[in-house]
Amino acid sequence: MSTNVKATTSKGQALYRRAKQIIPGGTQLVSKRPELYLPDQWPSYYQQARGVEVTDIDGNTYVDMSMMAIGACVLGYADPDVDGAVKAAIDAGSASTLNSPEEVELAELMCELHPWAGMVRFARSGGEAMMVAVRIARAFTGRDKVAFSGYHGWTDWYLAANLGDETALDGQLMPGLDPAGVPRGLKGTAFPFHYNRLDQVKAIVDAHRGELGAIVMEPLRSEQPNPGFLEGVRDLATEIGAVLIFDEVTTGFRMTDGGIHKMLGVNPDMAVFAKAMANGYPMAAIIGRGPVMEAAQSTFISSTNWTERTGAVAALATIKKCRRERVAEHLIRIGEQTMAGWKKAAEAAGLTVHADGLPSLAHFAFGHADEPVLTTLFTQDMLERGYLAYSQFKPSFAHQPSHVEAYLKAVESSFSMIAAALKAGDAASRLNGPVARRGFYRLTS
Ligand code: PMP
Repeated sequence: MSTNVKATTSKGQALYRRAKQIIPGGTQLVSKRPELYLPDQWPSYYQQARGVEVTDIDGNTYVDMSMMAIGACVLGYADPDVDGAVKAAIDAGSASTLNSPEEVELAELMCELHPWAGMVRFARSGGEAMMVAVRIARAFTGRDKVAFSGYHGWTDWYLAANLGDETALDGQLMPGLDPAGVPRGLKGTAFPFHYNRLDQVKAIVDAHRGELGAIVMEPLRSEQPNPGFLEGVRDLATEIGAVLIFDEVTTGFRMTDGGIHKMLGVNPDMAVFAKAMANGYPMAAIIGRGPVMEAAQSTFISSTNWTERTGAVAALATIKKCRRERVAEHLIRIGEQTMAGWKKAAEAAGLTVHADGLPSLAHFAFGHADEPVLTTLFTQDMLERGYLAYSQFKPSFAHQPSHVEAYLKAVESSFSMIAAALKAGDAASRLNGPVARRGFYRLTS
């Protein structure tokens, strides 16, 4: 493990400058933009990732105590069991004219884990799988309109919410999403509500009763459900004949084997998984009650790359390991240790730090003015100490308590430096580059 690397990230910076010339937006995923973490300093590109360690293209090795592939690598990087299974699939041919048998086994496994579900379709990424789910729900109900809460990806059905009121998606996890290019004809088809606001769901249902095909939401993300909230949404969906879709793209396989809804006692009509289900290999699943899923046959949902073999093989190996090794319990323990450590370090330094939410999707926020400056300073300082660190930490099975202990020692030093900066009023001038950005925005340089 490296510490105090005093990173030089010049190759990473140069490559990202080239990327921005030829790839609009610099990367394919907003959450991997260096500007979000540490503009002009973030390592940006990796050459190797194993366990909890990432080596950047300048040759620096860091311990990743941040996003772990934006929540995809639930077992850690380059997990030997998953990679071994994928390598065997590659050796046996990862694509052919015939189908891969593993997708049937995976469909059966997903239904075994979620006994309310009877049928399964596959795709290869979260937003795309959500689009499939909404299409099936619309086909099943014959209705166009969708009520939703939270973030569900880049596709038209979702961004349509911003056609009428361009702030409709603000407060839904990723503010500032621009619906340019989304047909204006979709205006008035997607209606946002806030988590725990059953009154808002009721108002949408009352206004669009016979036209609402789906209610889409994460069953839980950062806020615990109020008593009766999820049950209330379930009842409303049943009452009006809308399909209740739980988006488990981020929450799936982090708190239990399968969807977090299994812990909440409310079953949807459909649920969607991606990210953690295949430890970073492209894979997504849309599961649902049989009669709803059958509607997939009344419309056209079909794609060549949804049939390749590595995704299904990686998912089977990941899910089997998650069950065998009780991975979710490990993630919860590691996340709890980290969150308790943030609080302790903050107290020792005299800082106000809020850390709540699910331990396996841990995050904190400085409770001081100029919070973005402090978070950027934290990332900058921790990078010099050998860590990819941010206000979010997505634990993996590869993170051991010893990693967390060493990280928390560095956090203690970092927090006391930040407290000193606050006292001196010079936090901004301690930054060696611009302040980190938030949400979606257009890159201008
Ligand atoms: N739904 C939720 C809840 C998500 O968190 C995400 C990704 N952050 C998506 C959908 C979109 O998934 P993807 O990035 O794989 O398209």
